[in-house]
Amino acid sequence: MRMLIMGAPGAGKGTMASIIKEFYHIPHISTGDMFREAMKISSPVGLTAKQYIEKGELVPDEVTIRLVEERLREEDAQHGFLFDGFPRTLSQAQALDTILSLQNVKLDVVVDMRIDRDLLIKRLSGRRVCSQCNANYHIENLKPKVEGICDRCGSPLIQRKDDTEETIHHRLAVYEENTLPLIAYYEAKGLVVAAKGYGNTYQSFCEIEPILGAMHDYNQK
Ligand code: AMP
Repeated sequence: MRMLIMGAPGAGKGTMASIIKEFYHIPHISTGDMFREAMKISSPVGLTAKQYIEKGELVPDEVTIRLVEERLREEDAQHGFLFDGFPRTLSQAQALDTILSLQNVKLDVVVDMRIDRDLLIKRLSGRRVCSQCNANYHIENLKPKVEGICDRCGSPLIQRKDDTEETIHHRLAVYEENTLPLIAYYEAKGLVVAAKGYGNTYQSFCEIEPILGAMHDYNQK
């Protein structure tokens, strides 16, 4: 299964992605996570990405595409993948088409997480993440057992620098300008399946799963 998950920042892509990757046994490739890992170790990619990410800007296409190209060469991505946060621009989408056609494979489906804007802002500004394992929490809806501490690994929770109210508005504007048009790009290819980005994510997955399976089967013929 070769999939993309799209939607505005805070639309619940990460939570849906963790269900999808378990269900289809495919690697979850989040370019945001890859950049944050690179920033932690201050690699050249990390140092470049940091300048953009902290301002809520997109990392330049050539840096992002190179990172994705390398990741797609790894063994675990040979039989499927789920991209989360990639592509975010038309150039990235076209680059992905080229990479996949060189491998003689096609995308099966693009899941579009839909949610309204007020809920997005509430979600993002209350989000806290584990400083070590990247697990997600929320100050109102998904509290850890001990305030400020990750249930999974015991490390401190932090607010991402790009989750402050001002940066959130900018990220949403960047999304609407650069990434939203990609939905039409994939709709024209008949690949988009809309999923609810609110309410119970597992239920939302169960609603779309039969369609995802059917699209995959169709592509195999
Ligand atoms: P995310 O965790 O997906 O919200 O990504 C966090 C930040 O990483 C974004 O706001 C961008 O600055 C950067 N980023 C992640 N993926 C991409 C991408 N495909 N293209 C450009 N920048 C990206």
